[in-house]
Amino acid sequence: MKTLTVIGAGISGLTCAIYAQRSGIRTTVLEKATGPGGVSTSWKRKGYTFEGGIHWLIGSRPGLPLYDIWKETGALGAGNPIFYKDPVYTLVDGDIVLQLPRSARKMQQTLGAFSPRDKAALAVLRFHIWCFTFFHSPVQDIGGLKVRHPRRFSLVEFLKMGPAVLLTPYLMSISAGRYIKRFRSPHIRRLLGTVVDPKINALSLIYTLSTFDDGDGGYPAGGSLRLSQNMADTFTSLGGRILYRTPALGVREADGGVTVLTEGGPMQSDAVVISSDARTAIDKLFPEPLQDRWARRLRSKLSTAQCMFVALGVRANLSDCPRCMQIVLKRPLEAGGLRFDSITVNNYALVEGYAPEGCTTLTCILPGNSYHYWKAMREEGLYRQRKQEVIAEFISRIEEHLPQTRGLVEATDLATPLTWERYCDTFEGSYMSEWRPWHFNANAPISYRPGIFFTGQRTAFSGGLPVAAETGRRTAQTVCRSLGVEFVSR
Ligand SMILES: Cc1cc2nc3c(=O)[nH]c(=O)nc-3n(C[C@H](O)[C@H](O)[C@H](O)COP(=O)(O)OP(=O)(O)OC[C@H]3O[C@@H](n4cnc5c(N)ncnc54)[C@H](O)[C@@H]3O)c2cc1C
Repeated sequence: MKTLTVIGAGISGLTCAIYAQRSGIRTTVLEKATGPGGVSTSWKRKGYTFEGGIHWLIGSRPGLPLYDIWKETGALGAGNPIFYKDPVYTLVDGDIVLQLPRSARKMQQTLGAFSPRDKAALAVLRFHIWCFTFFHSPVQDIGGLKVRHPRRFSLVEFLKMGPAVLLTPYLMSISAGRYIKRFRSPHIRRLLGTVVDPKINALSLIYTLSTFDDGDGGYPAGGSLRLSQNMADTFTSLGGRILYRTPALGVREADGGVTVLTEGGPMQSDAVVISSDARTAIDKLFPEPLQDRWARRLRSKLSTAQCMFVALGVRANLSDCPRCMQIVLKRPLEAGGLRFDSITVNNYALVEGYAPEGCTTLTCILPGNSYHYWKAMREEGLYRQRKQEVIAEFISRIEEHLPQTRGLVEATDLATPLTWERYCDTFEGSYMSEWRPWHFNANAPISYRPGIFFTGQRTAFSGGLPVAAETGRRTAQTVCRSLGVEFVSR
């Protein structure tokens, strides 16, 4: 039996490990943390669940190519009903409340009624969303591989993607922020500016809106932890082995295979898959920092997506508030050296089991690069103090805009990029690469050297869970091909 070591039990590592094990390769996963999921995780504080990973899952709707991966890996089990937020966002600016419905038709009606002078721009937006209706992240089989259940390549499906393909160069050439500027209403601009970071390309904005319109992008019950635990269970039920609290310290080429160095000693296998952040791995896991052309490009070209994540447990029932509110602040919030005029607050009041009876979990992602700010704070010994200050300021903004929460916050947490760096060793604490207009981040190759493979973030464009799942599967296929093994998906 061939053997494989996978470094990392994040979503890409688990996806790869499940397919490899099912294909008959004896697979061991090494994970430095105490549980599965990597940056896609949630945790508990004083009885509240803080969802720090999935906010929407692409491929959550049956019939989509990615859905097959979530099903085959057991990520979405029978006990994971999917919830769909509709409206997906609600802008709250004083007395003005403006909703962003899922359906593009309703979006056009709602926003058009709110701002009649934007009707033409809304018609164009709806057309652009329509162009992407049949565009789905493809999941294909690689060439030269024996596959037990091959995926059929449909020419009709491919042709249906035509409008999206034709529109793509234009949308990639401008930022989401610039695309949104065509709307005259500042409220519509703000509302659409919540969907993706305005710095990244407009393709990501239109693709995301079309995902919502298509009935995809739901939230699976149990969230990140249930999804990754389901995957870990699938893997172990197939006979795979996961070693938690076991960081890989190095990767070395060896006669007839590869050796992974761990505190417990070297582990030899026929192949290794590095699913931990490739940007970190190229400097840390090899005898010398890698100097291949792609590795040098990865160092110089990478644009990282970073954020801070604030979570509150509130002793109040907020089920009558919108599920995802973009609150325009009366006083801006300063955090991590960045300034926010508005915050997007996720309200989990209607998600069962996320808070004690009558209480509510609120979370908020504060996007932007704050790694160097927090690193400087740590070096000056001010890290904890600054975190407490940000939490206090955040609570005061929430109390100002949701007075029913005043004095009732009883659990808090703030994750900074240093948190993700510490737990998952991601580069500068980032959770994916940022795809700016005409900026192509360099990627690591899936197949690097005989027996050494990469997967996950930094091996494909864009990012998030779709990339983790698709590259995890593709890497498993590449490993199977190199070891001469038939690929079995289910
Ligand atoms: C707040 C937040 C919200 C998000 N929301 C969404 C969303 O709504 N939808 C979406 O699609 N995506 C979302 N994402 C992004 C998504 O979660 C990630 O892009 C994805 O999970 C990355 O998966 P990965 O397997 O490539 O990497 P990782 O999750 O980084 O997995 C790598 C694993 O390797 C382990 N590791 C690292 N070094 C070592 C070592 N030396 N030895 C052993 N193990 C090691 C790490 O601990 C980790 O478990 C979000 C991310 C964040 C932070």
